[in-house]
Order: sequence, then structure tokens, then C-alpha cells
Amino acid sequence: MNEHAVVIAGGGPTGLMLAGELALAGVDVAIVERRTSQDLVGSRAGGLHARTIEVLDQRGIADRFLSQGQRHRVVHFHIPLDISDFPTRHNYVLGLWQNHIERILAGWVDELSVPILRGREVTGFAQDDTGVDVELSDGQRLRAKYLVGCDGGRSLIRKTAGIEFPGWDPTTSWLIAEVEVSEEPAWGFRNDALGIHALGKSEDGRRMRAVLTESQVRRASEPTLRDVSEALIAVYGTDYGIHSPAWISRFTDMTRQAAAYRDRRVLLAGDAAHVHPPMGGQGLNIGVQDAVNLGWKLAQVVKRTSPESLLDTYHAERHPVAARALRNTMAQVAIRRPDDRTKALGDYVSTLLSMDEPRKRLAAEMSGLDVHYDLGKGHPLLGRRMPDLDLVTANGPLRVFTLLHHARPVLLNLGEPGGFDITPWAERVQLIDAQYVGTWELPAIGAVTAPTAVLVRPDGYVAWVGDLTQVGLADALTTWFGPPAAA
Ligand SMILES: Cc1cc2nc3c(=O)[nH]c(=O)nc-3n(C[C@H](O)[C@H](O)[C@H](O)COP(=O)(O)OP(=O)(O)OC[C@H]3O[C@@H](n4cnc5c(N)ncnc54)[C@H](O)[C@@H]3O)c2cc1C
Repeated sequence: MNEHAVVIAGGGPTGLMLAGELALAGVDVAIVERRTSQDLVGSRAGGLHARTIEVLDQRGIADRFLSQGQRHRVVHFHIPLDISDFPTRHNYVLGLWQNHIERILAGWVDELSVPILRGREVTGFAQDDTGVDVELSDGQRLRAKYLVGCDGGRSLIRKTAGIEFPGWDPTTSWLIAEVEVSEEPAWGFRNDALGIHALGKSEDGRRMRAVLTESQVRRASEPTLRDVSEALIAVYGTDYGIHSPAWISRFTDMTRQAAAYRDRRVLLAGDAAHVHPPMGGQGLNIGVQDAVNLGWKLAQVVKRTSPESLLDTYHAERHPVAARALRNTMAQVAIRRPDDRTKALGDYVSTLLSMDEPRKRLAAEMSGLDVHYDLGKGHPLLGRRMPDLDLVTANGPLRVFTLLHHARPVLLNLGEPGGFDITPWAERVQLIDAQYVGTWELPAIGAVTAPTAVLVRPDGYVAWVGDLTQVGLADALTTWFGPPAAA
């Protein structure tokens, strides 16, 4: 039986990101992935939001994505919301299809030498006090200290662990397909009594990509070309002579979230922990950020520098983030309903969102830039993302995100050089003396007072803020990075 510290079920975006994070921290991790290659049939996520790009920038891999996507200055919540005035280097959405996102992530994970056991599934597991026995479809068994289910919305890991998945059944379904046509379609969006439909060109321009709201909620059956043809005729009066489908699929507005993200040695992340409709393009982004929240914590627990209780902060921090996405997508589905009263409501929401303050609030939520982990009262930076400031150090200019490339925490001293002594944590936490001249501005919040020091976690969130004193620093170091090493 092969042993690994962590086994990840599922090598989609969430599983790949988590594997990369664990490998960076020096943890022995393996992925088990059902698909025989990273190829993805059908189109799913269409892009990366600002906070996800920041997170990738923190690891030094954002350019790999930026060089292949297209930047758009708006996020969507009912109407397009401009985010180009947000204080971040990445004040845009990067348009890039999920198959490309996965390919680039898989390339990174490969460089980090993570084994991916492809073409087989996790079929079951049993956990005990010291680890988890994982059964694979090829008869192999793996032993792991922890098993993480990144195995998508129908997660076998979640079901086998007996974790509840409460939420809301679908009210609408959509067909999505890429097909060839023999007549010129009516490109663009169409609104009718059924809802919104869209016809666009495929990536290579040779086929039609259709998203069609169905007249009845359908979920169980696999959709066929005939279903697409009928849905087209219902909306456009013709099916444009569709033939030769590249793929056909269906999605719904089913909205559910795991009641717990952890059951002892088994954890859930990404779609395994939360599903919601694609409005606003948030699912993949939240999954990748789940992984970045969990990776360093799990690494520290595996290496025994932190107690197991650190893993409870994963659910505490990430469950509310996805819960909010569940709510905002339910709202977006409701406000798209085609009846006149809902349209009237939509007009009012549009009016509100054209005002600066509401636009900023909602846009910061959709782009993930306003995530705030509840780390107690204090400076507004506490529990929020650390901005990527241009620092000046004794060795020259330095961006904050560069300090996070190896996923190690950093205590940034912006006051008197040499003012801190963190010797008991020196093996775990980088101490950097630096200067920063300029304002501190947070998305949707605005300017905040300049701190004299900040403790930044590997995921880029601020764990402690100094204001000329060091009160609370030792506690924060212990809470997040484990007890002090003996002298
Ligand atoms: C039409 C549509 C549009 C979308 N648009 C967007 C968007 O614009 N932006 C956005 O952020 N998100 C979007 N999403 C959501 C996004 O696609 C998902 O949130 C994302 O794929 C979740 O990633 P994941 O890695 O958690 O799960 P998945 O991508 O589902 O990956 C799970 C992986 O686990 C594997 N697997 C499953 N079971 C097992 C098993 N037992 N053993 C081993 N392997 C297993 C699967 O093969 C798969 O590779 C969209 C989704 C749809 C359907």
C-alpha cells in the first residue's frame, strides 16, 4: 500500500491548486483523478476574478494565465460593474476558459513533481485515529494522514463521509452546447418569456455555442441534439440546421453547501463543498481560494508545527464566503425572471448599482476582493487581503507578493529597522524590514491608517497589525504558525 501525507480526490482546478500549495510547503501529496487527461469536455468557467489572479500572483504564476487571457474591466451582478478603479494591480476579470486554466495549473503542479494517478477513481475510504485508507477503482489502496475531497458537486468523499449537503433544489435548467450550423444564427442575447438565451461563436469561430433557458426544469437525463434543436425552435423558431455537436450539457440553479467542511481526517473543498449557478462566474474562483486557505494549514498540521485545531479555521473562514455566493447567485437567478414585476425590480436594482457605493460593494464581493475573515476587532486590515505594495528594502525594491512566492508567512516591519525579534519562530516566519511611502487603500473600504507592521499568512491575509506596539504579536504567531520553538 502506497503512503502519502495527503491524498486529494479530484484533479480539477481546486485539487490542482491544493496540490501545488501542499507541494510548495514540502508535503508529500498525490492526486487521484478519474479523467485520463486534463482535457475537459465542454466549456465551464470562463474566467478568473481579481482576487484569484492576486492569489496566483502571490505564487509567482499569474503571468502564465495573463499571457493567455483577455482582460475585461467589468464584473457582472445583474448589470456590468466597472472595477477599473479598484486599488489592485489586477483590477479586471481575466477571460480564459476553464480547460486553459486547468492546463496551466496542471503544468505548475507537474513542475512541483506531484504524482497524479489518472484514469482511476476513489471508490471508498475508511478513517481511523491515525489516517485514512483510500480505495481506488483499479483495486489499489492508498494510506494517507488526510484525504481531501476536491471531487466536484457529486462528491463521493462528501457522501461517504456522511456530510449533509443542504440547500435548494433547481428552479430552472439551461442547455449549453457547441454545435455546427447550416444557417447564420441570430448572434447575441435574447430575452423572452422563458428567460435569457445566448448564441455566440466557439473559440475557433467554426461552431455555434448556445446557452438556452429550458421551458421546464430538467436535471436527470443527459441532453441530446434533439433537446437543443427543440429548445432553439421554441425560442428562435428555427434550429439553424444544427448538427455535429462537439458537446452538449445542462446546468441548473441547484444551490447547496456542505454543512461541514471537515470530518476528522477528511476535508472538502471547491464544488464538493458548494454548488450554485454560474451567474457572476464565481465557482472555480472560490474553489481555488478554498485551496489556498486550506493548503498551508494542512501542511502545518501534517508537519506537526500546528495542532489539528488549526484545521477548524478552514471551515470557519471559508464556509461564510461560499454561503455568500449561494445567496448572491440565488438573487441573480430571481432577478432574471422574465415577468414584468421582476423586471421592475431589476430596473430599481440597476439604478442602485449605477451609484458608486453600491457598485463598489457588489463588485468587491463578486471579484473576491472584499473577503474578510473574522479575526476579531482591530485595524481594518485584520483578516483582509494584504495589498501588493511596492516596498523599499535594504536590498532594493520589492513587491509584497514576491515575499509570498514560497507560501511562507512574513512579518513585515515598516517601522524602525531591527525593531522585532521573533527568534522562536525564525524557522517558520520571514522577518522583513522595509519602507513604504504611499497610501493604504482597500477595495470598497477606501483609505486606512498606515500600520507600522503586519503579519501576513501564506494565503495573503493579514493575521496581526502593529501600531507602534507589539501587543498580541506572540499570540498571533502561536495561533497561526504554532507554539514558539524551545530556545
Ligand atoms: C456552465 C458553467 C459555467 C461556469 N462558469 C463559471 C465561471 O465563469 N467562473 C467560475 O469561477 N466558475 C464557473 N463555473 C463553475 C466551475 O466550473 C466549477 O466551480 C469548478 O470546476 C469547480 O472546480 P473543482 O475542482 O472544485 O471541481 P470539478 O471541476 O468538478 O473537478 C472535480 C474533479 O474530480 C474528478 N473526480 C470526481 N469524482 C472523482 C473520484 N471519485 N475519484 C477521482 N476523481 C474524481 C473529476 O473528474 C474532476 O476532474 C461554471 C460551471 C458551469 C457548469
